[in-house]
Amino acid sequence: MEYKPKVIVFDLDYTLWPFYADAYMTLPLHKKDGIVHDKNNCKFELYPQSFDILRKLHSEGYKIGIASRTSEITGAKKLLELYDLKRYIHQKEIYPGSKKAHFAKLHKHLKVPLHDMLFFDDEWRNIKELREEGVTCVMIKDGINWDYVKRGLEDHNKKISEMQLNGLVS
Ligand SMILES: [Mg+2]
Repeated sequence: MEYKPKVIVFDLDYTLWPFYADAYMTLPLHKKDGIVHDKNNCKFELYPQSFDILRKLHSEGYKIGIASRTSEITGAKKLLELYDLKRYIHQKEIYPGSKKAHFAKLHKHLKVPLHDMLFFDDEWRNIKELREEGVTCVMIKDGINWDYVKRGLEDHNKKISEMQLNGLVS
């Protein structure tokens, strides 16, 4: 039997897009020729596989969560909206601070235990904290792609299988 995560959570900066939303963007944002631009007409694009990954995982029945520490909350939400990702996301937790708080909220709203969640992030401090909480974590580099997703699903299956062997889950 294959154990699948009930929720798949993504960081934003350097996970879904290649920049820090709170350092580089000047609001307001607008979309031109399919690409989001800021007030100064600088372009802000997603990583190439981000849209496809969220769309596909959502269509396969996974719940999608966002956990970001950015202080540019308005801009980050607007980017998700302008790139049409909003409809695939069940729960967004976007604010500074330890991501333990973000995951506590995800747990509360989605009613899913932390060990049933899979998380992608580019920063070790976040990976380390959530791994301690039982979340399946994959540290990524140069943005999300299908290889990372595949690895995450495999790691998760392995983790739950082991938990079951040890009588930690039924
Ligand atoms: Mg990041």
